Parts: sequence; C-alpha cells; structure tokens
Amino acid sequence: MKSFSIKAKITRWFSLLILAILAAALALFMSAGSSVLRARGQRTLQELVQKNSEELTYTADRRDILYGYQYIIYGDGYLIIRDNFLDRENGVYCALFDSAGNLLYGTHVGAFPISADGTVHTLSGSDRDYYVYSQPLSGEGLDGLIMQGVVEKDANRFLLDGLFSEALLILPALALLAVGGGYILAAVMLRPIQKISQSAAAISGGEDLSRRIDIGGGNDEVHRLADSFNKMLARLETSFEEEKQFTSDISHELRTPVSVILAQSELAADNPDPKAMEVIRRQALRMKNILERMLSYSRLARLESLPARETVDISLMCRALAEEQRLKDCRGMHLHRDIQPDLLAVGDEGLIIQALVNLLDNACKYGAQDGNIWLTAGRNGRKVYIQVADDGPGIPRRQQGKVFGRFYRADTSRTGDAGGSLGLGLAVVRQIARLCGGSISLSSRPGKGCTFTLTLPAAENQ
Ligand code: ADP
Repeated sequence: MKSFSIKAKITRWFSLLILAILAAALALFMSAGSSVLRARGQRTLQELVQKNSEELTYTADRRDILYGYQYIIYGDGYLIIRDNFLDRENGVYCALFDSAGNLLYGTHVGAFPISADGTVHTLSGSDRDYYVYSQPLSGEGLDGLIMQGVVEKDANRFLLDGLFSEALLILPALALLAVGGGYILAAVMLRPIQKISQSAAAISGGEDLSRRIDIGGGNDEVHRLADSFNKMLARLETSFEEEKQFTSDISHELRTPVSVILAQSELAADNPDPKAMEVIRRQALRMKNILERMLSYSRLARLESLPARETVDISLMCRALAEEQRLKDCRGMHLHRDIQPDLLAVGDEGLIIQALVNLLDNACKYGAQDGNIWLTAGRNGRKVYIQVADDGPGIPRRQQGKVFGRFYRADTSRTGDAGGSLGLGLAVVRQIARLCGGSISLSSRPGKGCTFTLTLPAAENQ
C-alpha cells in the first residue's frame, strides 16, 4: 500500500472535508431555495386570483358600461372587467369560467379540472407540473362563475438554476482553495514536528547529546513533546557522562594497584621477598575494596524499595558511632555531639549506619585539619533528623547540586588511600535516604564548612 506523508494525508482529508461541506451546503441551499420559490409561486397564484376576482362586476343595465370599459355579455346582463384585471402576471395565467366550465375571459394554458375547494392543487400538464387554484365568485350576478389561476410549478426555477451554474463555476476554485489551504495548514502545523525529526536525526547521526531541540516558545502538544524529548536527551547526556566518568575513574583507580602488583610480582619472580608480597597483598586489598564499593552501590541503586522497614533507635546509633575509634583518630579533629534521647525512626538499620558512616568519613576526610565535627540528632514534627557538620573548606555553590550524583568528586585531585575516593559515598547516602522514605540535604558556605542533614520518617509509636 502506498504510504503518504502526514502533510499529504492532512491536505487530502481537509480538502475532502471542505468539499463535502460545500457540496452539502449547496444541496441544502438548492432544496431550501426550491421550496421557498414554490411556496412563493403558490402565494402569487392565490393573490392574483383573489385580486382579479375583485376586478369583476355584474350589471344588468347597459348604461352602466361607460366608454372604454371592457365587458362581456353574461346571462341577462354584462360582466364589466376593470383594467386592473391581469390575465398574466409573474408566470401566473388567470381565466374566468362559467359554471359549465366554458372560458369567458382571460388566458388559459390548458384544460385543468375546476375544483374550487380553496386549496392549491398540483396537476400534471403535457410535459410539466402546474399549480392550479380555482375560486368561486359570489355576489350579484356573479354566482356560478369561477376564477382559475395556473402557474408552472417550477416557474421560478430559473433563478436557482442560474445560481447553481454559478456555484458550479465557483466550486473548482473553492476546491483549489481548499487544497491550497489544507496544504498550508498542514505545513504550518507540522513544521515543529519536522524540526523535531531533523534535530533528532542530526543528534542521532552526530551522537552529540548536548544538542537540544529548539522550536521556539509555546505550550502546545508539540512544544511539550519537544520538551520531553529535550529532558530525555538531558538525562541520557548525564547518564553517558556519568558512565564515561565512571569508566575513567575505575580505570584510574585500578591502574595504580595493577601496575604495582605487576611490578612487584616481576621482582618477586626473580627474588622472592616478603616485603614485595606484602605490597602485592595491600594493593590487591585496595582493588577488592574498590570493587566491593562499586558492587554494593550497584546493588543499592537497583533496589526500588526496602524489603522491610524496621524501627531504628537513632539516638543509640549516633552515640555508638560517635564512640568509634576511627573518629578519634581523625586528623586531630574534635567531635562534638548533641543527640536527643529516644529518637526512633523507620528504615533499615544497616543502611542508615552506612549513610552516617559515609557522612562522618567525609567530614573526617574533607574537614579542616585539627578542626571540628558536629554530630547532632533531633526531632522535627514527624521527622527525625541527623546532622553531620564540619568547619572545613566547604563545597562551592555551583558544585553543591552535583555532589549527590554518582562518581562526582568536587576535588578530583584527591584519590585517597585504600579504595580511594570514588565519588559514590554521597550517592549511596541519597539512595539510602530515598529507600527509607527520607531525604538528604546540604548547606555549605565556602570556607565555613558543610552541614549534611539526613531526614528520616519518625516511628509512629514514639
Ligand atoms: P568521595 O568521598 O568518595 O569522593 P562522596 O560522594 O562522598 O565521594 O563525595 C563527593 C564529593 O563531595 C567529594 O569528592 C568531595 O569533594 C565533596 N565532599 C563531600 N563531603 C564533603 C565535606 N564534608 N566537605 C567538603 N567536601 C565534601
């Protein structure tokens, strides 16, 4: 089957629709016009018969007939026919008959039966139809006389025929106009779609995901489509960028331990040395650490919801974390805590611990040497919040929105030690907060440190 472009289809359907409407309007006009003209013909017929009936008088006295009067001898007297008697007007023929049906006066177009019942009859002549109206006369000397009018049924049809032939001439012009109009309309309506498809082709051909579809301002369906398309491209671009960054980060992280292991194992092959074996073991551990963190993140990222939610004693958890040795060994930093008692939240205990460890580790890693870390926990309405703050260098404003993204490292020069900095810690925290039905936010002023706030739903029975 031949496939037409949408533009051709719209043009075709639009033109057909307009033509059908025009044809229907013309047919309606012709039928209504014909009824109106016929009704008018009948009215004219009745009016003329009525008028002519009033133009007749009977007299028995010959002297009543003045000079110039028209008259006919009728019975014992005379019928005077005034000049206003019109035996032919607007296609209506009028004639006077006696009671036996003999023509006395007027013009007679055919022998039609005389039926003076006050209605207009439609009668067939030799080749066409006629309206016939007969009216009995009354008054002195007039009884028995009948005035009959006859008019062709479609006497005024020529008016409509004229209009119809003009319409037939105009119709092709209108058809052309409809096709042209339909084409222009389709072209205008489809122009943004064409732009979208051209942009999409250019983007997919050039694989340039930073390009966006620009079809100007507006908020109609097509603009919304372009908008969704642009959002999809933005997400794709972010995800491709993240993947690229990920590949380069992982290669970077793994290259060093792999090189060290290769070099040390070559040395050890010629000259077995326990120190070399120790270096190999340490580097292998570092690789294991990196791979484990990646695996644990990807497992977490795949989770749509927590398998089960439990009540978690946040006060207890924070106090235990604050006691951990690694915080005490942290670059001479001092830990302050302000933990309200009996804070119960819902979530997964293991995951919440993981999130807090990540935040505390970051404060320890990025906070100021010999500086401070504040661990605060409290309740705000139906939420339990935990804050981890430091007085380190903080995070520049333009990077604050990005730090929760995967593999994002504000300071790329740091790679850390065992396992290094992968840029996954805060992404993990965000995912845990989401899974527990809470949220994570950051407030930071460069030079004044960072405050991360993890909010969790409070347990109902608190
Ligand atoms: P990682 O610590 O593995 O790099 P994170 O996702 O935990 O990954 O952190 C992302 C980035 O955010 C870090 O690279 C760091 O630059 C910045 N950042 C996180 N916490 C802090 C903090 N407390 N102070 C300053 N910068 C921070």
